[in-house]
Amino acid sequence: MLPLDASLLIISDLDGTLLDHHTYRWDAAKEWLAELKKQAIPVVLCSSKSAAELMDWQKELGLTGRPFIAENGAVIQLDERWSHSEHYPRLLTGLRHEALMSLLDTLRSQHGFKFTCFADVNENTVSEWTGLTHKQAALARLREASEAFIWRDTQQRFTAFTEQITQQGLALIQGGRFWHVADSQCDKGQALRWLCQQYQHLEGRTFTTLGLGDGPNDAPLLDNVDYAVVVKGYSRLPVVLKNDSPARVWHSLQYGPEGWKEGLDHFLTVQ
Ligand SMILES: [Mg+2]
Repeated sequence: MLPLDASLLIISDLDGTLLDHHTYRWDAAKEWLAELKKQAIPVVLCSSKSAAELMDWQKELGLTGRPFIAENGAVIQLDERWSHSEHYPRLLTGLRHEALMSLLDTLRSQHGFKFTCFADVNENTVSEWTGLTHKQAALARLREASEAFIWRDTQQRFTAFTEQITQQGLALIQGGRFWHVADSQCDKGQALRWLCQQYQHLEGRTFTTLGLGDGPNDAPLLDNVDYAVVVKGYSRLPVVLKNDSPARVWHSLQYGPEGWKEGLDHFLTVQ
């Protein structure tokens, strides 16, 4: 069991982990979030969502001012106390959204691939796809260094598309609902390592990290923390970790925020 003290850092995926996959509710996590806030233990959100969406969720969850990792690692927001850092307020680790869209448009016109990006539709459509409110859907479209899309072509064409994407130095990541494309340099694990270095450097001490996630795209996050919670999720693919030993990893029995709470109950002890 880990003590709740100043050396603890919690990094959590949002959709299907801290938030219910279907309803976006997080009631089961409320008590722990309040306790962590009381103890001044940072909870860093790490998600495929945009920075604008994560700032909105930080407000809702009482985490305003904390760092976060957005767009699967392509965007890293610094803690509000680190305003003297050269990277403040946030670091974009790969190709910018505009350049990415122009590459995608070129591939589409050259090869006729069929896919629909968030940038191709308005917030009403994104809201229909996701169940987000119109305001949230508008924030979801404000992407800075990655793009979300729905594939509308054959599996064979998808293989050809993947080859083209790789040749351009980009990578595809499968999220809970959409495919995401970003610079191949970006992933949740790299972003997390960078952020932990910032913590050590700027706060002047070392941290014990506890990560929580529910999908295969969280594996880089969960591989780069000291302790990991694999929250039971709806993905057909398993979450495969490099070190899955029971001393390091807890697989929750429940879905979403109930599983999130279960993981914290397992690893943390309130003194
Ligand atoms: Mg998730």
